[in-house]
Amino acid sequence: METTIEKKAVLKGGEFLVKESTAHDIFTREDLTEEQLMFGDATKQFVDSRILPNAEDIEELKEGLTPSLLEELGELGVLGAGLPMEFNGQGLDFITDTVLSEEIGKSGSFGVSVAAHTGIGTLPIYYYGTEAQKAKYLPGLATGQLKAAYCLTEPSSGSDALGAKSTAVLDGDEWVINGQKMWITNGGFADIFIVFAQVDGDKFTGFIVPGDLDGITRNAEEKKLGIKGSSTRQIFFENVRVPKDYVLGEIGKGHKIAFNVLNIGRYKLCAMVMGGAKRAIGVSANYTNERKQFGKNLHEFGAIKHKLAEMAIKTFATDSATYRTAGYINDLIQQLLEEGKTPAEAKLIAAEEYSIECALLKVLGSETLDYVVDENVQIHGGMGYSEEGHAARAYRDSRINRIFEGTNEINRLLSIGMMMKKGMKGEIDLLGPAMAVGKELMSVPSFGSGPEGFFAKEKQAIVNAKKAGLLVAGAAAQKFMQHLEEQQEIMMYLSDMLIDVFAAESTLLRVEKMVAAKGEEACALEIDMARTYLVDALDRINSNGRSAVAGFAEGDEMRMMLMGLKRFTKFEPVNTIAARRRIADHIVEQNAYTF
Ligand SMILES: Cc1cc2nc3c(=O)[nH]c(=O)nc-3n(C[C@H](O)[C@H](O)[C@H](O)COP(=O)(O)OP(=O)(O)OC[C@H]3O[C@@H](n4cnc5c(N)ncnc54)[C@H](O)[C@@H]3O)c2cc1C
Repeated sequence: METTIEKKAVLKGGEFLVKESTAHDIFTREDLTEEQLMFGDATKQFVDSRILPNAEDIEELKEGLTPSLLEELGELGVLGAGLPMEFNGQGLDFITDTVLSEEIGKSGSFGVSVAAHTGIGTLPIYYYGTEAQKAKYLPGLATGQLKAAYCLTEPSSGSDALGAKSTAVLDGDEWVINGQKMWITNGGFADIFIVFAQVDGDKFTGFIVPGDLDGITRNAEEKKLGIKGSSTRQIFFENVRVPKDYVLGEIGKGHKIAFNVLNIGRYKLCAMVMGGAKRAIGVSANYTNERKQFGKNLHEFGAIKHKLAEMAIKTFATDSATYRTAGYINDLIQQLLEEGKTPAEAKLIAAEEYSIECALLKVLGSETLDYVVDENVQIHGGMGYSEEGHAARAYRDSRINRIFEGTNEINRLLSIGMMMKKGMKGEIDLLGPAMAVGKELMSVPSFGSGPEGFFAKEKQAIVNAKKAGLLVAGAAAQKFMQHLEEQQEIMMYLSDMLIDVFAAESTLLRVEKMVAAKGEEACALEIDMARTYLVDALDRINSNGRSAVAGFAEGDEMRMMLMGLKRFTKFEPVNTIAARRRIADHIVEQNAYTF
């Protein structure tokens, strides 16, 4: 296999749709260093020894427990993993931070408290705080002595976050904040709130608000469907006075804080749910090894093998896409640091550059976990419906991931909106490749040489799948122009096509890289996974493309595009039943997800 290209081809955000990548270009889990894995192991040990044994008490929100566990995690260095050492952080790279997030994701609701604290609670100060604000708050946030919460959502503004009604009025040397915030994670114990309010009616602005000020009321804990072990409250601000210099960033620029912090939040959510999915697969495997029906272990039934394998395949694909993106973001951070940017600036710019990938990953990861925990319940049968085991709780806990950090609808819409915007601004060349696909459609199919070597047919399938995406995106853009945003159903189909292209390509490239290092025989199961995912992804791409096209084209034009979609998603049949059986047998034998 060819992996001799010296310099990595760096893709810009969103460019995966129009450019080809090689296995050499991408980062994979197998590229993690000993040190990165070591940090992951330490976090895993913490989750196994301190969180899982306390799961019941955490679930019941036992007074003081989550805050004290956060402090322990702070002592371990996990809360400040990505912060510079001058603020008690560890200064770890973005990839190590991903490994840690994955392990924290195995801790159920506690992980939500951690994510709210380290992500949306801490990062606004790190990215947008003044030097004085950083020096005052970051050291305590890194050790867990201070706990943070993020107050954006209000009763009448959730997805439409900028429609917040809370107000901040300058009175002498102080801001007077009034408003009601809803669904605030860590609301029960946070020492610091990041609060967004309107200045002069419409200048959406961020503030740091210490939690012990007069006028702050923490409502009772919300009664939730899942993640019951994380504190979620409404917070009322009534004439809360904060010093003038507690503004975060610039007045009227709060949207930048809110949205940029969410890029990283979405990415990390994906890393966390991946950890949750791996844990649930292990629980499922264990049950199929223990439970017998009709004189057989559950794992001997083909229907159950299918489930176990599919849970693993989707998780493997999510993992591949996540670490590929981690590599892109990490590389760009390094490049920006070399160019003289501060670590905070570098991280912010890099996450913004790959905001399309972050949005796609958020959807992919949360829907993968939902699939996995749903099948986990099913594999457990009636026991899956009982509160005594892990399955029911994991099922309930998973559901929130499609709602917060931007709902999956919002993230789907954003991914396509951002892609189109980049195309219009000329930041990525969408027009040229889309026109080339249109031209190709009118011509006789050529059977010229395509990719060669290992996975040649699969790689050709990815080249074609990208053409399918470009075909639909190009035609929809031409038809609706700047009004495409009003065609949400089409944007949803398009974003699903993009997710499949990105995940299938990431999986193939990862496995190709593994094969180059270890040989085909040692990677037989990973090859099964990559091929099975690809075959199903091509079917979905065709189906999503057809539904989109039928929504805006008619007659010959529609028929031509449907033919094109069929051509671009054609792949010779693969015995995925046998492949899934092999994958499931391995998981059952190992009693865990081991890929
Ligand atoms: C347990 C929990 C913890 C949370 N933690 C925090 C926190 O710490 N801090 C914080 O600020 N917020 C937090 N949130 C709030 C969360 O971010 C919001 O619930 C979320 O953004 C959705 O807003 P909403 O609930 O108002 O739903 P809505 O915005 O009313 O959405 C309802 C439905 O309509 C869809 N929809 C909305 N707008 C559009 C559109 N333009 N196009 C198509 N579909 C649309 C949505 O996708 C969704 O399906 C939390 C929520 C929960 C449940």
